[in-house]
Amino acid sequence: MQTREFGCDRCWPTDAHAAWDARGGLTRLEELVDESHFHVMILACTLCGQRYVSIFTEMIDWEGGEDPQYWTLLPITEAEAESLKRQGASLGEMSLNALGRARRCLRRDHPKAEPPRVFWGSGILVGPHD
Ligand SMILES: [Zn+2]
Repeated sequence: MQTREFGCDRCWPTDAHAAWDARGGLTRLEELVDESHFHVMILACTLCGQRYVSIFTEMIDWEGGEDPQYWTLLPITEAEAESLKRQGASLGEMSLNALGRARRCLRRDHPKAEPPRVFWGSGILVGPHD
């Protein structure tokens, strides 16, 4: 059996699209930032208990139609989850972008007037948002 650093086959499969589907089965543990264009949550797998930080940003360009939307899902350690909880709503982009720099993360980009893309990335880069 292959040893893995984060998650289990259910919550963190090798295929990015399967991982995006699996995200829908994660339990919401904590809501950290809940603004309409910036949403940060801690999610957990019910099977293995792995914690994830989920970040959603939406860019408003005032030109009407659908605004570009970006999601990042990054597996985090218990200690990182605790630290995020302590920061709560004062959590800034700096501390998010400092998390798991070389760690694999799941990204979903939905640019304006283009189909969404789901792919593997690394670390966190909080996109521009209002
Ligand atoms: Zn799991």
